[in-house]
Amino acid sequence: LNARLAQALATLNEAQRQAVEHGLARSAAEAAQASALLVIAGAGSGKTSTLAHRVATLIARGADPQRILLLTFSRRAAQEMSRRAGQVAARVMGLRGEAVPALPWAGTFHGVGARLLRDYAPQIGLDADFTIHDRGDAEDLMGWVRHELGLSSSARRFPLKSTCLSIYSRCVNTQAPLAQVLAHSFPWCADWVEALPRLFAAYVEAKAQQNVLDYDDLLLAWAEMMAEPALAAEVGARFDHVLVDEYQDTNRLQARILLQLRPDGAGVTAVGDDAQSIYSFRGATVHNILQFPQQFARPAQVVALERNYRSTQPILDASNAVMAHATERHAKQLWTDKASAGKPQLVLVADEAAQAHWVADRTLELRENGLTLKQQAVLFRTASHSAALELELVRRNIPFVKFGGLKFLEATHIKDLLALLRFVHNPRSRLAGFRAVQLLPGIGPATAARLLDAMQAAADPAAALQAFEPPANAQQAWQDFARVWHALRHEAGWPAQMELAQQWYQPHLERLHEDAMVRAGDIAQLVQLAAGYASRERFITELTLDPPESTSDRPGPPLLDEDYLILSTIHSAKGQEWNAVSVLNVVDGCMPADVVQGAHELEEERRLLYVAMTRARDHLHLVQPQRFHVTQQTPRGDRHMYAGRTRFIPDADLGGYERQTWPPPAPQPVFVPAPPAVMDLRERLRKAWR
Ligand code: ATP
Ligand code: MG
Repeated sequence: LNARLAQALATLNEAQRQAVEHGLARSAAEAAQASALLVIAGAGSGKTSTLAHRVATLIARGADPQRILLLTFSRRAAQEMSRRAGQVAARVMGLRGEAVPALPWAGTFHGVGARLLRDYAPQIGLDADFTIHDRGDAEDLMGWVRHELGLSSSARRFPLKSTCLSIYSRCVNTQAPLAQVLAHSFPWCADWVEALPRLFAAYVEAKAQQNVLDYDDLLLAWAEMMAEPALAAEVGARFDHVLVDEYQDTNRLQARILLQLRPDGAGVTAVGDDAQSIYSFRGATVHNILQFPQQFARPAQVVALERNYRSTQPILDASNAVMAHATERHAKQLWTDKASAGKPQLVLVADEAAQAHWVADRTLELRENGLTLKQQAVLFRTASHSAALELELVRRNIPFVKFGGLKFLEATHIKDLLALLRFVHNPRSRLAGFRAVQLLPGIGPATAARLLDAMQAAADPAAALQAFEPPANAQQAWQDFARVWHALRHEAGWPAQMELAQQWYQPHLERLHEDAMVRAGDIAQLVQLAAGYASRERFITELTLDPPESTSDRPGPPLLDEDYLILSTIHSAKGQEWNAVSVLNVVDGCMPADVVQGAHELEEERRLLYVAMTRARDHLHLVQPQRFHVTQQTPRGDRHMYAGRTRFIPDADLGGYERQTWPPPAPQPVFVPAPPAVMDLRERLRKAWR
């Protein structure tokens, strides 16, 4: 074992090995008692690889995979790390194939929180059948409560439901008082400091009555549960090792939970990069990672990694230069021995159409030179920025997959079918019920409200549903619905339920949508996806927490042989790498966005560009359209702007780039022949009168 382990760790550098083996010289049990460990290091320095090797080593040294809690920022990242660690561990332990250990507790903070809350529901006064509201659902419920309180019709304009939810969410995630949140982030809503608490109290009450939790509640409720010492001890005792990736993007609640799980830091490992903190707009705080070494009862061990294994030196130099001007200091300079003559390219194009054209050309050129499409990515700030490029790619027949865009689950028909399942699972969910029953012809908002009120008032909501008297014209459809609802709740198993729901929904789909054929295909995929989950509850929970993000995440025939270009928002590209990366719209107005005010926000924009640039291994292209289209909520709506190069690359740094203008300016002809003489009739006619 020792020999095979040494072999598996042979590629690591000294600092990485120190992190992997912290407290782990002999056994995993020893490591569970060791002080906390923080690996703080720049992009591409092997933080995620180090974490994966540590997990593998823990397993090889006897840790029970059931008792390893691995927290990442997306489920995809968790699965990937679980797979990598499992493979290394299997190799070290001489296992193969089926025997590769899996990590059942690898996931996001939210996903793990949801599972624990269900496990302990009876002890904490929660109904275990709770459903989870995504951002859209939460906004709708906030809107409904706002309406019920008569706030939406107040004479002065009360904040929009989405703004109300953002304020609420900000208070929860930062654990800061409302007045402070308003002053700091929503100054234009400061007048409502007295009305908002009433709204939020009613919102919290509505969630309780309907047995739903929103995203923020998952963290808040988890932290609240852990405030009870007996429960904290019980939950903490379930895990020997707690490992967190991308720690710079955690919020205060997440840091609190970690501390509650392990007050003395035993068995805790966190990795992250303060220069890559890009989620403070969602309440994440870089203070978590800066304070980590001192936050536990015992000081943490800190390891820094300085060698970068991802990018060429010119790409690193350019990325380092962007951060060198940061006002908030990050004391790291990365180096690599990946030398390269090629500098990153800074490409000036006329507008977004030209940008799309250039990127498509470059992609094909690199493919000619041996890079597959999958080894290339195009990154941009927000999902809408790739529109022109998508058109160009379709026109040229270049396949692509987009991450971070419109989600599969946002389509009406998918939402409809899921609403039925949620309503069956949690009969008190008003949002789900409202949506599901209004699919029936003859049932409108008034009837739906009558039904839901009756169900809410009843001791047994299921019985109230069966006893409901619909309007005469809805009799047939209602009976059908009630029968299916009952069967889904009490009779059919999983995933057979999905097929029953699909059968019930099909005629409604055909009645409601002209393109029912296409939509039926999506539904079929959803049914197939459902079969991969153990139960209805796991399916609707995980789908809400971590929806399929891209077309490639959707189930369907395997895409193994298919090659496609990756399009992604920078936020969704976190932690990943490609041989060639193009970044769109590297202009002032986009990076930084022109809505950004305040030094703090500006620095986050700088880090965003840094994250984008450091995704590249060998080729980096920053594209700068001179004319750039912005869509924003101004009174004037959409507009075009003339944009300059991003301020994060000042003139003094231009030497680090190879600069190009595209299309190249037309060569000036040396000799310009005079235009052929043309008879000027008018002039002749005028002459007569001179
Ligand atoms: P980010 O900050 O972007 O999340 P990271 O610090 O997590 O980056 P990784 O993604 O773990 O970095 O590693 C970057 C690349 O370097 C990967 O391709 C990885 O396989 C490689 N790498 C890491 N450590 C080594 C090593 N010791 N020898 C060779 N390659 C390495
Ligand atoms: Mg990483």
